[in-house]
Amino acid sequence: REQQLKRQFEALEQANAYFQQQLRQSPERERAVNYLKQRGLSGQIAAAFGIGYAPPGWDNLMRHFDGVESATALLEQSGMVIHNEDKQSHYDRFRDRIMFPIRDVRGRVLGFGGRVLGDDKPKYLNSPETPTFHKGRELYGLYEARKHSNHLDRLLIVEGYMDVVSLAQHGIHWSVATLGTATTEQHLERLFKLVPEVIFCFDGDQAGRTAALRALRTTLPVIKDGQEARFLFLPDGEDPDTLVRQEGEDAFTERVTQAMPLSEFFFKSLSEDADLSSMDGRARFSNAALPMINSMQPSLLKQMMLDRICEITGLSLEQLGSVIDLHRATHE
Ligand code: ATP
Ligand code: MN
Ligand code: MN
Ligand code: MN
Repeated sequence: REQQLKRQFEALEQANAYFQQQLRQSPERERAVNYLKQRGLSGQIAAAFGIGYAPPGWDNLMRHFDGVESATALLEQSGMVIHNEDKQSHYDRFRDRIMFPIRDVRGRVLGFGGRVLGDDKPKYLNSPETPTFHKGRELYGLYEARKHSNHLDRLLIVEGYMDVVSLAQHGIHWSVATLGTATTEQHLERLFKLVPEVIFCFDGDQAGRTAALRALRTTLPVIKDGQEARFLFLPDGEDPDTLVRQEGEDAFTERVTQAMPLSEFFFKSLSEDADLSSMDGRARFSNAALPMINSMQPSLLKQMMLDRICEITGLSLEQLGSVIDLHRATHE
């Protein structure tokens, strides 16, 4: 089994080398290179992230691996080749796409994200989950960020591959992206082992705002004293890529400095759903807030957030205490 995994990692590394070589040598390379240029990426940044190109066609990768049955089986286990049961045939998963290799912290290629060159759907295609590739665990760009600096003091969490690469192009080498999934507790635990501060920076659209609320709920049980989480909201229609291209490194970094602290986002979002000028609204607010605060580990921040609820409701901590216990009782 150990041997099997080793062969899979080797196959993914070899596929990665092939895609990068195709970006230089494929007859279609001009379209791919122009696409990357048009997105503002230099050859240097593309190389730093190992960006490559999967040419059009159904079996380029398989043929690159000799096309022998054992190689095709290996590529299938690695998620690079799809097995069509009906036709009893195999074909390359990634065709005519810009390829972003996803590495673990040790630098091993675990899988890929692939983007079409135009507006075709689906825009992005990711490697499937495999025994070695868990999307709820891995973060795109973490290996590259750590390679760039061995002393990171904060990390931005963004939505997309292009956001990470484009930020790096503009001098911001401290961002990571989730792999088309929500941020998990596992992601956050990993990040907080590396840096004391994470800043969520999702797209300036409805999906991005919903993702921020989810991230808030996911962060509460994880965060400890000495750690900080903040939320950076982007103007409507922008994502980190479009914004950093427009306004550059300094303006973008200034936004990061101004990002909203977790507790502020917490109270802001909850008070938007309740009219705090009425008793009923304050009760509604507290009923939503207390289970969330309950999910936190003991910390000064938790204590201060409870104090704030006391201020808002006019109830004492003892009075709230019974409610918290009540919530705990109904939770368990
Ligand atoms: P681009 O700037 O290249 O057009 P983006 O990075 O802004 O793309 P979004 O559409 O905002 O992409 O999506 C953010 C991320 O969500 C993508 O980078 C990708 O990881 C993931 N994603 C988007 N669409 C899909 C999809 N159809 N299937 C799987 N993952 C997707
Ligand atoms: Mn989006
Ligand atoms: Mn984008
Ligand atoms: Mn986006």
